[in-house]
Amino acid sequence: MRILCAESLRDRNTLALPATAEALAVVHGEEDLREAFAWAAARQLPVLPLGSGSNVVLSGNLKALVVCLATTGREILRQGDESIVLGVAAGEAWHPLVEWCLEQGYFGLENLALIPGTVGAAPIQNIGAYGVELQSFVERVHALRIDTGEPLVLSGQDCEFAYRDSVFKHRLRDALIITRVDLRLSRQPDVRADYPTLARALDQSGIGAPTPRDVFDAVVDIRSSRLPDPAREPNAGSFFKNPRLPIAAAQELAGRFPGLPLYPHGSGEAKLPAGWLIEHCGWKGYRDGAVGVHPQHALVIVNYGGGDGKAVLALAERIADSVSERFAVALEIEPRVYGG
Ligand code: FAD
Ligand code: NAP
Repeated sequence: MRILCAESLRDRNTLALPATAEALAVVHGEEDLREAFAWAAARQLPVLPLGSGSNVVLSGNLKALVVCLATTGREILRQGDESIVLGVAAGEAWHPLVEWCLEQGYFGLENLALIPGTVGAAPIQNIGAYGVELQSFVERVHALRIDTGEPLVLSGQDCEFAYRDSVFKHRLRDALIITRVDLRLSRQPDVRADYPTLARALDQSGIGAPTPRDVFDAVVDIRSSRLPDPAREPNAGSFFKNPRLPIAAAQELAGRFPGLPLYPHGSGEAKLPAGWLIEHCGWKGYRDGAVGVHPQHALVIVNYGGGDGKAVLALAERIADSVSERFAVALEIEPRVYGG
């Protein structure tokens, strides 16, 4: 394993933000990881795992050992007539895994097609799209503790998954590196196509009883047409989480702002689309120098070239302030911010 110093991270984050790592290690297995932990501890540097950088805002010189996992591997751990359990290395890319599972006849992940990133990062925010969340499939998460190098195995329940949330953002934040995720998938087609955007697309294609392949294709089509490709318009996907309010407060707000959609969320809460709130504050298509809000998607902040972490966060703050002023709703940013 080589450790590189003062390494640029511009090509390692999808917002293409200029930042450098004090040190960077590309690791190929658990031995490399333990060596990296010891190297960082000897220099009193924190260890910062980085996947594809599609859910981070990086700024300045990160005083850390940035660790990128180059591990690969998809292993069948158990299988029966109904389901199969796969162990997948954390360094694997997410979307190719979804596509491969579909080809093998391991079903369930189709709605999560085309989400950028690595398998190791997927549990961090319990990735979700089109009515499906990762938590439905996680059997075990394997990790190494950064302080001791000891292995740790968490069950799906231990991960405390919630909407775009998990134990890895709270009690175990910065404490470990995920090395493998075990996923239980169905051997029988397991189609969930009731999410409105998806149902509409399938309906328009004249598909009445969709197969997993139909769902996968429809999700890929919708995402390709609606979401800006980070390779051409650098972005980190949805910049804000959808806020949740007690149902009574949400209904009161919807009464004052006709057209505000409300979605039931758990017991006693409603979820409000952050994109709607931002759009109705006039931000869609706004541009301030190098950074701006995507003209077709109000939740997406774009670095049009030359923007830095400070500019992105300043714009995000102005957006959140205006939403708070107009709707009295607090927006929380989704990507994790490093440096500053
Ligand atoms: P990174 O951005 O590199 O890291 C994210 C966080 O996870 C960081 O805190 C990092 O330290 C930590 N981390 C990374 N790897 C590990 C590891 N092995 N062990 C411990 N911690 C780790 N998200 C959704 O949920 N649904 C979507 O539909 C969706 N669509 C997107 C569309 C676009 C165009 C973009 C740019 C992003 C989208 N995202 C979406 C967000 C993002 O793709 C996911 O959160 C993804 O899981 C991040 O993976 P990553 O490898 O890029 O993680
Ligand atoms: P959309 O379908 O236009 O919907 C806008 C928002 O309304 C979504 O955020 C969604 O919440 C919510 N919503 C819509 N219908 C819903 C329903 N029936 N029940 C509950 N919530 C509903 O969204 P989009 O922007 O095109 O994205 C489609 C999907 O991809 C969404 O699931 C979205 O989360 C996901 N996505 C995520 C990111 C990211 O970076 N996190 C980026 C792009 C897309 P949910 O977000 O809870 O689904």
